[in-house]
Amino acid sequence: MDIKAPRGVRDILPDESWRWAYVLDVTAKTMADFGHSEIHLPLFEQTELFSRGVGDTTDIVEKEMYNFTDRGGRNLTLRPEATAGMVRAAVEHGLCAQGAASRLWCWGAMFRYERPQKGRYRQFFQIDAETLGVSGAVADVEVIALSAEIFRRLGLRNLEVVLNSVGCPKCRPIYRDKLLKHFSAHKGELCKDCLVRLDRNPLRLLDCKEPGCGAVANAAPAIYDCLCDECAAHFEDVRNGLSGLGFRYTLDKRLVRGLDYYTKTAYEILSGDLGAQNAVCGGGRYDNLSESVGGPHLPGVGFAAGVDRIVLIMEEQGCSFGQCPQKEVYVVAQDDTPAVCNAVLSLTHRLRMEGIPAEQDAGDALGKKRSAKSQMKSADNAGVTWACLVSQDESHNIVIAMKNMNTGEQTTARPEEVARRVKESYNI
Ligand code: ATP
Ligand code: MG
Repeated sequence: MDIKAPRGVRDILPDESWRWAYVLDVTAKTMADFGHSEIHLPLFEQTELFSRGVGDTTDIVEKEMYNFTDRGGRNLTLRPEATAGMVRAAVEHGLCAQGAASRLWCWGAMFRYERPQKGRYRQFFQIDAETLGVSGAVADVEVIALSAEIFRRLGLRNLEVVLNSVGCPKCRPIYRDKLLKHFSAHKGELCKDCLVRLDRNPLRLLDCKEPGCGAVANAAPAIYDCLCDECAAHFEDVRNGLSGLGFRYTLDKRLVRGLDYYTKTAYEILSGDLGAQNAVCGGGRYDNLSESVGGPHLPGVGFAAGVDRIVLIMEEQGCSFGQCPQKEVYVVAQDDTPAVCNAVLSLTHRLRMEGIPAEQDAGDALGKKRSAKSQMKSADNAGVTWACLVSQDESHNIVIAMKNMNTGEQTTARPEEVARRVKESYNI
């Protein structure tokens, strides 16, 4: 076929999808343990939500969004991230109306027009948790602890929590000026992109990956001396909270994140086993996001973690994904008489209703039944424990030979006995 999946977009095939299901199961349980309720958000939103919320000088909005106009002339965007949509939904449905924290989570596909490579795709999946409506540092600590706990339960090793504060609109301009001065004195060493960023958003120079810019950024002043009293106290509280829980973290003055809405806390969790795409999770506080998209004051803090990258690391580290769903029984028709075919159909259905994964031959592409021999081959390939060979005896009774594919042992059974016998074999 000439038509292939679009560049940067991949199919998650059956041999991988069960691993994703495991990651999402563990995530869902952890989210529930931390008091987060799941919501499902739309995959596209009004473009304005992202251009105003994420910020129109960010890479995401400038270069990475999938924008389109629908038949009604509306400007829409495939979501590049979930936080803005979460805040939009919480405001639209009054989820924070009581004045208490609203803890939410969601997962699903995000879309960014990026250069595809290992761990970086144009459609990728994120797990996203947000605590909305509270401004205190406890929520920041909880959110960081939640992300770390998901990774702990998944068995990920070699992770590093990196923390910073990006200040607030009160103190950030002072820091911005300091940075502007510093970077302007080193213009000759900066890449083309950073020269443009210098005027628009000098904080973004801090996380440029170009070696020349990196060296200048390493020598740049840290934000800590510029933080206002409120931001400094908040940062202190977050650090004390994390230490109190026994979390190890590293301070990184260059951590600024690629979205404009962050205030105060910014953090990432990095993996030593991901190469260039080393961020598994990123998040922080965004006290002004709601207002920047025309909503009420609604402080929030949250994180997003990449499912594609989590699965990649888990595979590389040999982590357990639980049990791959097993096929238990293959029901084989010994001949193609109507009585036998009906018995195969009904036995297979009966086993499935008992919760026993069962398969049968559904014929080939031309609608022809396959021989008993090739059905046995399929049973073998499927790795089932039991093959149930269905036939008729001389008095036209249906008889079933149950073959244990592990031991080769074979016994006969009546159709109504098969499910019980299979279940009994689990307990051996
Ligand atoms: P990066 O620095 O790798 O570009 P980011 O800062 O853009 O990451 P965030 O916006 O913080 O990423 O998204 C949170 C997480 O989502 C990342 O830590 C990563 O695991 C995942 N992620 C982001 N972009 C992609 C992508 N294009 N493909 C796969 N996963 C991604
Ligand atoms: Mg990115």
